Amino acid sequence: MKYVSTRGDAGGRRFSEILLEGLAPDGGLYLPERYPQVDAETLERWRGLSYPALAFELLSLYIDDIPPAELRALIDKTYRAEVFGDARIAPLAPLGDGIILERLSNGPTLAFKDVAMQLLGNLFEYELKRRAETLNVLGATSGDTGSAAEYALRGKRGINVFMLSPQGRMSPFQQAQMFSLQDANIHNIAIDGVFDDCQDIVKAVSNDLAFKRRWRIGTVNSINWARLLAQVVYYFAGYLQATPARGASRGPLPLVSFAVPSGNFGNICAGHVARMMGLPIRRLVLATNENNVLDEFFRTGTYRVRRGDETHETSSPSMDISKASNFERFISDLVGRDPGRVKALFGDGVGRKGAFTLSAAESDRVAGFGFVSGSSTHADRIATIADTHHRFGTVIDTHTADGLKVAREHLEPGVPMIVLETALPAKFAATIVEAIGIEPPRPAAMRGIEDLPRRFVTMPAEAGAVQRFITENA
Ligand SMILES: *Cc1c(COP(=O)(O)O)cnc(C)c1O
Repeated sequence: MKYVSTRGDAGGRRFSEILLEGLAPDGGLYLPERYPQVDAETLERWRGLSYPALAFELLSLYIDDIPPAELRALIDKTYRAEVFGDARIAPLAPLGDGIILERLSNGPTLAFKDVAMQLLGNLFEYELKRRAETLNVLGATSGDTGSAAEYALRGKRGINVFMLSPQGRMSPFQQAQMFSLQDANIHNIAIDGVFDDCQDIVKAVSNDLAFKRRWRIGTVNSINWARLLAQVVYYFAGYLQATPARGASRGPLPLVSFAVPSGNFGNICAGHVARMMGLPIRRLVLATNENNVLDEFFRTGTYRVRRGDETHETSSPSMDISKASNFERFISDLVGRDPGRVKALFGDGVGRKGAFTLSAAESDRVAGFGFVSGSSTHADRIATIADTHHRFGTVIDTHTADGLKVAREHLEPGVPMIVLETALPAKFAATIVEAIGIEPPRPAAMRGIEDLPRRFVTMPAEAGAVQRFITENA
């Protein structure tokens, strides 16, 4: 399988060439040249597979430059019951009303990002060893991404992590989760500023090409193709668990819908890829919170990125985005992989004007990709968490609540609706208490982490200071 850039100027790359890269050199995102097709017989054959075996079948379609036995070993090492709390990795939990939760948040940092990031950590370690190279991963986080990256890369040979976070602005739990790590290769840097300052520093350092090359700076952000690919697996796993075996019947395959709490469009883009591969997905239900850039797009055909000061701070903070970094991948498919059109929309449209609007013909095509959308508010989250607790005895987190609220608006008779659970409620305890008056349960491994010793440094919001720290600690 070869990979191409959505903007057309970088073609024919292999998986291991793009694994450690973020953006393509032309500023686009990598996509496989084509989506391998999975037919009904193959799907049926996969029904009995374990999660790692299914992951191997799917990943093998996209990765042909890692020997199969080694790829299988990396996958088996990643998807274990000891790491994800359950050998099924992504088990389903029916909620009633035709709605099913897919539990993706029992990994080390209690959010779905672990599912992809844990694999990425093992792939990075493998590839760096093969190349006899090292990597300094530089990132900015307001919570979930940073901790998922650190737990995936802690103790990995050849990799250092430098993670910037806005001082005092993460939840106490998120801060404790990251700062309590004592691994020598993990460096937490608390920046005297807000999240945007942290992100600006990462950009400034990455744009210093001489420094970037000399110190081998890399990222693990959500545009990484391997992360997206790892997420495709749980759409298949969810589908196979939610539908009955076909037996002798040769009728059409049953359809399933997925509802996805969305921010950077990474998670739901994996659903789009699964659907393009032939997985019988009826609807991809995109849910946003008050930051409704994407909901607005699917309702109106206009994509208008927000300024920092237009971005709301909400009680589902991991979805507080002003611009969806993976969105260009879907648009590329929507415009038939026309790089000129992608450049016109993302280079000139978003770049210069901050917005673009699809042509009428393009808008007409959106429905054919299965997307529908909706948004929710703090009051909706509180009501959804309370209702789910009251009727089903299940406590869900604030992001999952956004997904569930919008899922209910798109239910169709006879079509199961799988809501992706993106975090455990223990991460967002204050809002859970507001909704149902009780503390959410916390997994044993996370009890008392606020009392553990902390390892971090503080720094002013200056790229130079961060660069100096990297040269002293890489
Ligand atoms: C990252 C995250 C999201 C958003 O996922 P995207 O892939 O950015 O769309 C939703 N919920 C939680 C809890 C997250 O950590």
